[in-house]
Amino acid sequence: MAQQNIVVAGAGIGGLTAALALAKAGFRVTVLERAGAIEEVGAGVQLAANATRCLQALDVYERVRANAVVPAGFAVMDGRRGTVITSAPMGAAAETRFGAPFLVIHRADLQSALATAAREIPAIDIRLGRTVDGFTALSSGIAVQAERHDAASGEDSESIHALALVGADGLRSAVRGVLHPAVRPSFRHRAAWRATIPIAALPARLADPVTRLWLGPGAHLVSYPVKAGTAINLVAVTPDERQLHGWGLAAAPEELLAHYAGWSDDARALLHAPDSWLRWALFDLDPLPAWGAGPVTLLGDAAHAMPPFLAQGAAQAIEDAVVLADCLKGATDIPAALRRYEALRQPRTARVQTAARGMDRLYHLSGPARLARDLVMRTRSGDAMLERYRWIYGWRA
Ligand SMILES: Cc1cc2nc3c(=O)[nH]c(=O)nc-3n(C[C@H](O)[C@H](O)[C@H](O)COP(=O)(O)OP(=O)(O)OC[C@H]3O[C@@H](n4cnc5c(N)ncnc54)[C@H](O)[C@@H]3O)c2cc1C
Repeated sequence: MAQQNIVVAGAGIGGLTAALALAKAGFRVTVLERAGAIEEVGAGVQLAANATRCLQALDVYERVRANAVVPAGFAVMDGRRGTVITSAPMGAAAETRFGAPFLVIHRADLQSALATAAREIPAIDIRLGRTVDGFTALSSGIAVQAERHDAASGEDSESIHALALVGADGLRSAVRGVLHPAVRPSFRHRAAWRATIPIAALPARLADPVTRLWLGPGAHLVSYPVKAGTAINLVAVTPDERQLHGWGLAAAPEELLAHYAGWSDDARALLHAPDSWLRWALFDLDPLPAWGAGPVTLLGDAAHAMPPFLAQGAAQAIEDAVVLADCLKGATDIPAALRRYEALRQPRTARVQTAARGMDRLYHLSGPARLARDLVMRTRSGDAMLERYRWIYGWRA
């Protein structure tokens, strides 16, 4: 069994976690990554208890924790008034409540922790500069084709024989493109603007280890500490009709600030702090009724990209990885094991996708509906708000 190889397309958070989980289940894993280096853009990611529980099971939690922050609290803010609508203690209280910690971390730190752990495992072979562009089902497994592009050898192609192919190649997955050519990402008419600022650039009241969700008409802002508490990550979400995707897009701070005219001094202090922002057009997928076929399956954003409003995209990819490895461990019928994985994951990820789309409407209300929402939130405790998401945070494999 240990000699049996599984190919994972993509070395994002999903692909790397899948490699760790599959190696732990006794497989050899070849990870094919299109990029020439494993690196993430400057931004943060929240890891809820459902994700950290999986990282603990994969023995990688301590490594991830080293550069992360355990937020001491969570607060929903009235973006215009700068007042707290509702709040809850996090830290040990949330860990006790949901059985695992909540972390906030810079993406580069998370990806580097996962990649370093994977590189230490001899059964995992990460090959960079490889774009998966096709596959052929064989009587015993699959042949995966990849285009190889590196500075030394130029471009050619390679074919890898494996038991199975896991498409963890993101929102615009090539593997999904072969399986479901008609499926297209759906544009959410919003942009996420991201920046990371040194903590020293902020007044002390905004530099505490608290995750804040600032709500206002048509737009919202999320702030939380990263880099072991030395920096604050900002995500601002605004209406936007530009569909160009990628992080290299010009993002003029004045344009962003115009969406936050009339917001409180504290919210604007955060928004004014970065010298530059990265802008990302938001796309997601409608829940896919079926994911894979034969010895091929999907994982993470390739299967269930969702808007970031519940901060669960990466967490769901991490859950996928653990369930996939559980289903494949010791399996003699690989396609049947992959269908079992999909049957376990599809209903849950579809529910999270739908809930995340629902938050889009709730977060961006304006006029009387916004005031009514804030009133309801004010009368509910922050603890009650967290309890509403027990079905997400309390998940166990
Ligand atoms: C603004 C914003 C904030 C977010 N905040 C959070 C959060 O707080 N918490 C959370 O859990 N989630 C969050 N998410 C979601 C999270 O970022 C994604 O769900 C997660 O990164 C998906 O991981 P993945 O590995 O599935 O895909 P990706 O990260 O997209 O990785 C795919 C990898 O595959 C590679 N690749 C692509 N095509 C090929 C190919 N043909 N061959 C080989 N390799 C290929 C890519 O180069 C990439 O490395 C957020 C998303 C956004 C946009």
